[in-house]
Amino acid sequence: MPRIIFMNDRLVPEEEAKVSVFDHGLLYGDGVFEGLRSYSGRVFRLDAHLDRLWASARAIALEIPLAKDVVAQAVNDTLAANKLVDGYVRLVITRGAGSLGLDPNRTKNPQVIVIADTISLYPREFYEKGLRIVTAATQRVHSAALSPRIKSLNYLNNIMAKLEGLQAGCVEALMLNHKGEVAECTGDNVFVVRSGSLLTPPPDAGILEGITRGAVMDLAHAAGIACHEATLTRYDLYTADECFLTGTAAEVIPVVEIDGRKVGSGTPGPITARLTADFHTLVRQ
Ligand code: PMP
Repeated sequence: MPRIIFMNDRLVPEEEAKVSVFDHGLLYGDGVFEGLRSYSGRVFRLDAHLDRLWASARAIALEIPLAKDVVAQAVNDTLAANKLVDGYVRLVITRGAGSLGLDPNRTKNPQVIVIADTISLYPREFYEKGLRIVTAATQRVHSAALSPRIKSLNYLNNIMAKLEGLQAGCVEALMLNHKGEVAECTGDNVFVVRSGSLLTPPPDAGILEGITRGAVMDLAHAAGIACHEATLTRYDLYTADECFLTGTAAEVIPVVEIDGRKVGSGTPGPITARLTADFHTLVRQ
């Protein structure tokens, strides 16, 4: 069945949803995006995603041509038009078409695109048995060069690391920052459990501040599990009792092996299991 896409001001069939070859989103990766999930017909933390989208756009001096409530409505309308109750939404804002050349002032008509689809999660087996990951040699981009807090259309830094992971037979890869500290994975945030407490790198480690990361921190708090932002190195991951990743697409997923070393017992741990269960309850509320 052809999908229905929201483009700028209306819903159109997939084959009519097109952007110009002169769009700077295509030419330079100049734009921002969000990935959202809907569960039982409701978008999870829609406001937080829209706030982050607006912040990303602001950081690259891109003015989103629609009001936040209009974009929120477009997200819901696109899900409804595609009859999706449990779905994944990709919200994309491009700089718009312009002349060849970097100058964003010579573009016009930023494109607002909403795509709704089903989500292909990692296979169930990965959730049950846990992921194996490796550390990528590709460093997370230095925040003084391009802040990882901006969810921009330029994901090559992450893709380079993802390729390294795939070459090693892993679906995710760990990225370190320029100081050799743990930042995040290519599309997920990282947590470790040590002596019953959660630790996760702070925003200035060079991460995207994940919405799922925030939700898990809230759940830990509610469950009486201490959670701190802390500078982590690979030592902390290798010696952790448990490790897991969080992301809109991945949700909460255990990591059982890093760089060929077993994490804890080498099987998903109890705190990861507890937070996974709490997360599933939360998204259905
Ligand atoms: N880090 C990166 C680099 C990401 O692209 C994402 C989103 N896929 C995340 C972390 C997780 O963020 P969220 O929980 O908001 O999806």
